[in-house]
Amino acid sequence: MTSNDGLFERACHHIPGGVNSPVRAFGSVGGIPRFLERGAGAHVWDVDGKRYIDYVGSWGPLILGHAHPAVLEAVTRAARNGLSFGAPTAAEVELADLLCQRMPSMQQVRLVSSGTEATMSAIRLARGYTGRDKLVKFEGCYHGHADALLVKAGSGLLTFGNPSSAGVPAGAAADTLVLPYNDVDALQTLFAQQGDRIAAIIVEPIAGNMNLVQPSPAFVNALRTLSQAHGSLLIYDEVMTGFRVGPQGAQGLHGIQPDLTCLGKVVGGGMPLAAFGGRADVMAKLAPLGPVYQAGTLSGNPVAVAAGLATLNEIAAPGFFETLGRQTTALAQGLCDAANANGTVFSAQAVGGMFGIYFSPHPPTSYGEVMNSDRAAFNAFFHAMLEEGVYFAPSAFEAGFVSCQHSAEDLEATFAAARKVFAQIALNTR
Ligand SMILES: *Cc1c(COP(=O)(O)O)cnc(C)c1O
Repeated sequence: MTSNDGLFERACHHIPGGVNSPVRAFGSVGGIPRFLERGAGAHVWDVDGKRYIDYVGSWGPLILGHAHPAVLEAVTRAARNGLSFGAPTAAEVELADLLCQRMPSMQQVRLVSSGTEATMSAIRLARGYTGRDKLVKFEGCYHGHADALLVKAGSGLLTFGNPSSAGVPAGAAADTLVLPYNDVDALQTLFAQQGDRIAAIIVEPIAGNMNLVQPSPAFVNALRTLSQAHGSLLIYDEVMTGFRVGPQGAQGLHGIQPDLTCLGKVVGGGMPLAAFGGRADVMAKLAPLGPVYQAGTLSGNPVAVAAGLATLNEIAAPGFFETLGRQTTALAQGLCDAANANGTVFSAQAVGGMFGIYFSPHPPTSYGEVMNSDRAAFNAFFHAMLEEGVYFAPSAFEAGFVSCQHSAEDLEATFAAARKVFAQIALNTR
């Protein structure tokens, strides 16, 4: 038994499933998760000393790669001054200013510690502001694990084939209305019937928790015009896409001003930091100014804020997103070429530093299409690539991530591994 396998066995004694977040468990692809010990740039090493090219990036935050010197320096400097105060600090003000500058739809912002907290709080705020209860979400979109949002959700829930959770009282989800992603007709019909009871639409503006699914321009526009016409708030959940698909997130790419935006992942640079913000008149309803309660002992934690500030500073470098987008597109194209050369049914696409790979002829546009991809082929691909030292997300339903540290050599090594693996898969399925 390797020390990795031994560690997993030990982990299972006192940690349910051996992991502290379900998708880490390899439940979808089978086998034993890798215990990681160290990361540097585009690479991670497991406890057995094996190196991998990492396309997970801690599930999105690490746009600068692992252990980026500027982030480490900022974090250690902040830590030396104390880990937490539970009182306001100057760095929080700096981060809030920067976030509102970078994302013009945000006039005010509040810092929290996880994406789940951001979406949960944004929804409470939307309900408090509008005085309405109903919430619209889309099939396959994941917005964290708050009760009202665990209905037909993506990410780990899809991975385990159960897009809703036990332990959610019927009442907690009764006001959550679920529609298919990209279905403009369904959205119009719903708003025509009960638009005046809908507090908010929450959407992954580019979905990344049912693999990567792009919205159609018509869908993007319908979300904005219908919510506006009916006095409902539009919440862009950009926990994954914010500062990942472009300098202003998906809203910058879409040219849309949502009423509220949720941020996480990249904004914390690998530390527990997230945020929600938007229109000043809406944010004014939050305590201590208004009646909507929301709080956190570690909110705006100085060490996490330091990591966020350092990350936002680095990604503001001229050409950062152009280079990242080029590399990510090259990765998607190279994987397609490797698959095509072996006659494997495969497609891929990239947006900014985010990509999707699919064992289907075209990138899917809905949860239903995602579910039609060849999962067995993905699982075989995943394990063979892992063996070759390439670490993709251990599920066919997750997006992948490239960092600015992924070099041309990393991509070439990935393609060489993929050519070998696709040839094996073609042989086995013949
Ligand atoms: C990751 C994610 C969340 C949840 O964030 P956590 O920090 O894991 O709580 C919410 N929404 C989206 C779109 C996400 O990708």
